Amino acid sequence: MMRVERVVVGPLSCNAYILYDSDEGVGIVIDAGGDGDKIVALVKGLDVRIGYLIGTHAHFDHVLAAKQVRDALGCEFLIHKDDAWLLELAAESARKYIGGDVPEIADPDGYLYDGCTLKLGKHSVKVLHTPGHTPGSVSIVGDGFVFTGDTLFAGTVGRTDLPGGNAMQMAESVSKKLMSLPDDYVVYPGHGRPTTIGVERRSNPFIKH
Ligand SMILES: [Zn+2]
Ligand SMILES: [Zn+2]
Repeated sequence: MMRVERVVVGPLSCNAYILYDSDEGVGIVIDAGGDGDKIVALVKGLDVRIGYLIGTHAHFDHVLAAKQVRDALGCEFLIHKDDAWLLELAAESARKYIGGDVPEIADPDGYLYDGCTLKLGKHSVKVLHTPGHTPGSVSIVGDGFVFTGDTLFAGTVGRTDLPGGNAMQMAESVSKKLMSLPDDYVVYPGHGRPTTIGVERRSNPFIKH
């Protein structure tokens, strides 16, 4: 059975998720945004083998602990190629926003692309390229759920005024791609509480009908 654990990490309260198949004991980590110790301890406690660490996008608050988590768990760190330039700027922007000591940020071990699938035991999840918040933002879709990073939140959508943001792309990613998912799909956003596609379709003021 597929299970989700959420832990709030880092200076901007990013949701880090562990998505795993409890029968097979395999999973992935999504958005190691900080507090690598917490994420690693949770994975060890669940006794899950992690194949991949996914960055939904390369803003520093989603990748700050990527190196620590990848190295501790021995997994591959994957992002979409269109955010590679942001990943290179992540340490610098973290220093600017939060100051102090910033950990070294991992280089990616490979890239995600639209439509690629990742296997988790008997299950698999699919990557949707959902640009707008950043050029390389992705959402991860499984059977009954979607991880949306900073693309879709409960009651709002992600900012498009940061470097690389694009309001037209955001509208298309949300209205065409995410809103084509069934109403009962649970949405796990990059910040804040979970919601569902149906609730957002009906009540999110940023979604055009
Ligand atoms: Zn972001
Ligand atoms: Zn964020």
